[in-house]
Amino acid sequence: MDDDATESRVRRGGEGGSPWSVRIGALAGIPIRIHLTFFLLLLWFGNVSSDQGEGFLGGVVFMLLLFGCVVLHELGHALAARRFGVATREIVLYPFGGVARIDRMPAGKAELVIALAGPAVNLVLAALLGGALFALRAHAPDSAEEVIADAPVLWQLLWANLVLFGFNLLPAFPMDGGRVLRATLSLFLGETRATNIAAAVGQSLALVFAVLAFVPPPVKPVLLLIAFFVFVGAGQEASYQRSRAAVRGLTASNAMVTRFETLAPQDPLSRAAQLLLATQQQDFPVLDAWDRVAGVLHRSALLAALAGEGREGTVLEAMDREPPVVRPDAPLEEVLRLLQARPMQPVLVVGERGLEGMITLENFGELLEIAESLGRTGAIRIRS
Ligand SMILES: [Zn+2]
Repeated sequence: MDDDATESRVRRGGEGGSPWSVRIGALAGIPIRIHLTFFLLLLWFGNVSSDQGEGFLGGVVFMLLLFGCVVLHELGHALAARRFGVATREIVLYPFGGVARIDRMPAGKAELVIALAGPAVNLVLAALLGGALFALRAHAPDSAEEVIADAPVLWQLLWANLVLFGFNLLPAFPMDGGRVLRATLSLFLGETRATNIAAAVGQSLALVFAVLAFVPPPVKPVLLLIAFFVFVGAGQEASYQRSRAAVRGLTASNAMVTRFETLAPQDPLSRAAQLLLATQQQDFPVLDAWDRVAGVLHRSALLAALAGEGREGTVLEAMDREPPVVRPDAPLEEVLRLLQARPMQPVLVVGERGLEGMITLENFGELLEIAESLGRTGAIRIRS
């Protein structure tokens, strides 16, 4: 119970940002958030560092500087996306790296530029750090080794940026290099084939990593973890790209359910329970007396309210008052993003005439299946 309350507070606290993350500020108008597990990593790294005699604080400071570089890498993606008119909702720092949540990834040359912008930032940072180390060396006539010993953090950061540059350019999804490969191939081969080839290259690379993790011994667990991460990521990216390609050019009105029951805020829960039994519906839009959207009542919220307040409680008390809403002409890619962010929540389609339809993950999945079947015979057009 307490956990639920914390989660919803963290989530609500950030204008719909990623769950379990806290906002620490904004750069270029883009919110920067830290996932709560990141603080565990800081503690762990501080401890390792103090065990090695470098001091708890030294480890934490290096880690924070390193993650500063990761934020700048993600900001590189975000600002490149902005040049193509694509907004970034947030940058989130996880213990394994950063993620820039870009509204939609454009195809072709734009994708290439956006993917390259992140690693390019690391290359520039490495050059700047190299310049700083060179300047230090010019002041101190001693050997390069002494300079490195005097400024270990600069040296470590220089290396870290080169590693970030190289690692991110590996031609494997979900790394930037995977996107670079896909975008380059798609200029010649078409998007679907390009995605499939890039995914296959990524998964082959993952298998090579897995073999290298065992031979030569000893077993290298970090490499094994990377292999697993790349293998799964490549598969997911390929299937996401297929969904995206299938819905390209379609709008919310193409996919929405138009026949469904609605509730009024003052309806008793018993009426909602009746509808749940009598229909296939799991979510019920709630309309006020002027037919405006007041919220959505989910099956799970309804059942919880029935258990708590019984049949006499009202829909108003149980409903979610801030459901995701799109316009009928919103691209389906945007709906896909909303559904992925909160899979249990339907997206309401509201136009000039008020509530026009509703899209759930279930009927979105059906649309994809239909699109895929039609796609094989060369015609992807659904209800348009
Ligand atoms: Zn990147």
